Amino acid sequence: MKKRIAALLCLLLLTGPVLASERFDDVAPDAYYAEAVAWAVDQGITNGMGNRQFAPDQLCTIGQALTFLWRACGSPEASIAQPFSDVAETDYYAGAAAWAYENGLVTGTELGASRPCTRRAMVTYLWKLAGSPISKNVETGDRDWNLLLVNPWNAIPADFSVELQSVGWGHCVDARCADALTEMLSACRTAGYSASICSSYRTHAYQQSLFDQRVAARMAEGMTRAEAEAVTARSTAVPGTSEHQIGLAVDLVDSGYWQLDSTQASRPTQQWLMAHSWEYGFILRYPSDKSELTGIIYEPWHYRYVGEDAARTIYEQEICLEEYLEELDTFSLAAAWARETGITTSSTDASFRPNENCSRAHLVTFLWRALEQGKLRLP
Ligand SMILES: [Zn+2]
Repeated sequence: MKKRIAALLCLLLLTGPVLASERFDDVAPDAYYAEAVAWAVDQGITNGMGNRQFAPDQLCTIGQALTFLWRACGSPEASIAQPFSDVAETDYYAGAAAWAYENGLVTGTELGASRPCTRRAMVTYLWKLAGSPISKNVETGDRDWNLLLVNPWNAIPADFSVELQSVGWGHCVDARCADALTEMLSACRTAGYSASICSSYRTHAYQQSLFDQRVAARMAEGMTRAEAEAVTARSTAVPGTSEHQIGLAVDLVDSGYWQLDSTQASRPTQQWLMAHSWEYGFILRYPSDKSELTGIIYEPWHYRYVGEDAARTIYEQEICLEEYLEELDTFSLAAAWARETGITTSSTDASFRPNENCSRAHLVTFLWRALEQGKLRLP
């Protein structure tokens, strides 16, 4: 008996690690992720999908990504109660979710575990787990023209200039988003609705006169100048801080109802715009629950061009531009760290394709490079 056990041990030692290609029919021996898959199985991070399948191209959800990460860290138990209202204790990712929250990888009150995990999100999780190291080689704040942040705390840069293009009815916008706007309005018509532009590009002088008029009206109702200016600023931007002055914003109304009030939101035209504007690179800039962050009241008529990538993310994640830009800055730091440590081999954000969904092959490869190759020291 002892002899047989010894022989068996010898055999195990001699055969060495099992190649991923021997375990899974869909992992070729020369696939870039083959070694990472073998490592992940040895570590107990995943067993594949059963039936000798690893499903390398299958896309990962947030719940899966956090679970892999958590298992890779040894499945530590969180010392807090489940923070997410949409996670049941019986969910396979419950432990991972609480642990991820405790370690600052995810925030908020809802996890949204079934949402796809982007490559951006995965690298950001790893970066946060590494202690959010700040790279010297990255500058946040240098943004594309379509992501210029203008709000009560961020005035239009002094050297700002814009090339305008007419979109009809006396309205102009930044020439670079004029076609997208025209396309959106025509798609809206095709869908059976009718939207009209009631405000577009404004000069500084015009924004000033608009602001002054509204302040004067409130003073006539008995407010002091300071009160009138403060109240006006919540709905009419202080000159120099209006998105209308950068040519990337339009106020769109239902052609049958031109009042700028909250009932716009219930008009079918407005509902179509809210559901589809992201497809044309526009977002509803001032959602009802984000006023603290945007500084402006709910405006179910003010649309802002941000480009298709940003618009899609903002729409899908139900966040506002301020939150998106904060995520973007975080990701710039995370991506620089991932490049420096070799967790990603892409040389730029564009080649890294941050908005693409993370596949199971990507996921184990990032983990393997981070943990097995010692790029990331665990807390
Ligand atoms: Zn507006």
